[in-house]
Amino acid sequence: MYVARHLEELRNADEYEILLINKENHFVFQPLLPEVISGTIGLLDVVSPLRRLLPGTILHVREVESVDLAERTITTSTGFHPHAHVVRWDHLVLALGTVTDFRGLRGLPEHAFPFKNLSDALSLRNHLIRALEEAALEIRDRDLRQRLVTFVVAGGGFSGVEVVAELNDFVRHIATLYKTIDRSEIKVVLLHGQGRILPEMDEKLALFAQRILTERGVDVRLEARLAAATGNEALLADGTRIPCKTLVSTVPASAHPLVDSLALPKTKNGRLAVGPTMAVQDTTHVWALGDCAAVPAPDGGLSPPTAQHATRQARLVAENIVADLRGQAPKTFAFKGLGKMGSLGRRSAVAEVFGIKIYGFLAWFVWRTIYLFKMPGWGRRLKVAVSWTLDLFLPPELVQVPLGGSLGVTREHFEPGQEVFHQGDIGDRVYIVLSGRAEVLHEGGSARQSIAILGRGECFGEMALLHSTTRNATVQCVEAMDVLSLPKKEFLLLAANLPDLQSSFEKLSAERSAGTKAPTRGAES
Ligand SMILES: Cc1cc2nc3c(=O)[nH]c(=O)nc-3n(C[C@H](O)[C@H](O)[C@H](O)COP(=O)(O)OP(=O)(O)OC[C@H]3O[C@@H](n4cnc5c(N)ncnc54)[C@H](O)[C@@H]3O)c2cc1C
Repeated sequence: MYVARHLEELRNADEYEILLINKENHFVFQPLLPEVISGTIGLLDVVSPLRRLLPGTILHVREVESVDLAERTITTSTGFHPHAHVVRWDHLVLALGTVTDFRGLRGLPEHAFPFKNLSDALSLRNHLIRALEEAALEIRDRDLRQRLVTFVVAGGGFSGVEVVAELNDFVRHIATLYKTIDRSEIKVVLLHGQGRILPEMDEKLALFAQRILTERGVDVRLEARLAAATGNEALLADGTRIPCKTLVSTVPASAHPLVDSLALPKTKNGRLAVGPTMAVQDTTHVWALGDCAAVPAPDGGLSPPTAQHATRQARLVAENIVADLRGQAPKTFAFKGLGKMGSLGRRSAVAEVFGIKIYGFLAWFVWRTIYLFKMPGWGRRLKVAVSWTLDLFLPPELVQVPLGGSLGVTREHFEPGQEVFHQGDIGDRVYIVLSGRAEVLHEGGSARQSIAILGRGECFGEMALLHSTTRNATVQCVEAMDVLSLPKKEFLLLAANLPDLQSSFEKLSAERSAGTKAPTRGAES
């Protein structure tokens, strides 16, 4: 967005055409995204429509699927029609950012909330409210209630600290509206793999942030690495289990898959290797910036992945493209950084600005003022300023924004000993085992009888759905298991419209009903 903006400013008449391809039709001001959790800032106030910001740019709201460096083309995803959409370029700027990559971390893709874009922030906010609504009703099952009011955030860098600060303030504040929830029941945990949070910051400021969070009730656990997750707990590398229904992970950030796929020079961590002029090494018309690029810093090392660096790099890329078109010499990247700031919510922050270290209210005031003026467009700045002013007097908003529709087929992860469902539960989903194993247990009186072991490719949970009954057995994981789970509504819709599927499930169900009398492999609830 910033490259296109500068290119618009530098253009003489129709000297060149600027085309921006972005997945969304808006620009997200990420530094303020954590405030969406608490609603301190309006949902739409952290985003700006690209069409308004870039009146002189052609916008393609599409996902880039592939880049052909030899042919100088980009293929984007399909729209309403599945025909190929190919764009030609003379200069290519890659600013794809990074992705939160949970691969290799058991259960995280299924159960952890990432925190990178607007929909992540909105989903998390909705989930927090839902967890409290459920906790308010859950008076029978004490363990479930404790899990519902336990919130875990993994990653003690800037994003993780800002997220945990906002989340903690929000849940503790709105909990006062629930008569059946005692604020002392709420548990907020921050996991960080190193010896202190905010490793990028001066130690004194990081310790201040840690103290503020602790005083506000956050359980800061250092040298604590998240290793796996289920829908019921966070599992740490040292074997500790934290029962919870909410897990947010702001780590790890990995190279964008599209960047991975390009035959361009990269550093060890997968960032595009660029020279001091921001051109990707060994290329003349490909430029890269921001989080996906390894940009040499003027005083050695690499520029950190922050917005303040990305926006300066964007200006230089635009200037160097124009210099190339006009046959002028390119400039080199010389920005050293102005400082670092992190908000701790509730009128407190830590900041190092021009070498001066400040914390508490003053840092918070500086943080807000700087970010307010960094937001693109006066209209947006005015809205945010009004939101912030009103927030000083009004309580936080508690409205869940329904995202509509069912979640459809989802993946779930279970650890040994964990129940998928319990005998007597309401049948709400059907499951297909992708890997691992589970045991089917039938409970009669005080005895528990093992009926079957289920493995890869087998399904379970269909009987209660087909016959509208409750679960007639318990299914418990015996070996770390990944499943596909299909909600009742979708399952019944498929079964009703695919007669073969319906009859094969009914046959399976009839065999299994017989199997509960004489245990067989493949029996189920
Ligand atoms: C929660 C959070 C808080 C932050 N706070 C601060 C802060 O306080 N100060 C600070 O300096 N920095 C902060 N940062 C970091 C800062 O936001 C990033 O360094 C900066 O946004 C990097 O810019 P970028 O252009 O490289 O990537 P991004 O801003 O991530 O932009 C990448 C763009 O590419 C689009 N895209 C990705 N894949 C495709 C595709 N296949 N097709 C089409 N479009 C695609 C995305 O939709 C996105 O618009 C924060 C980041 C986060 C997540």
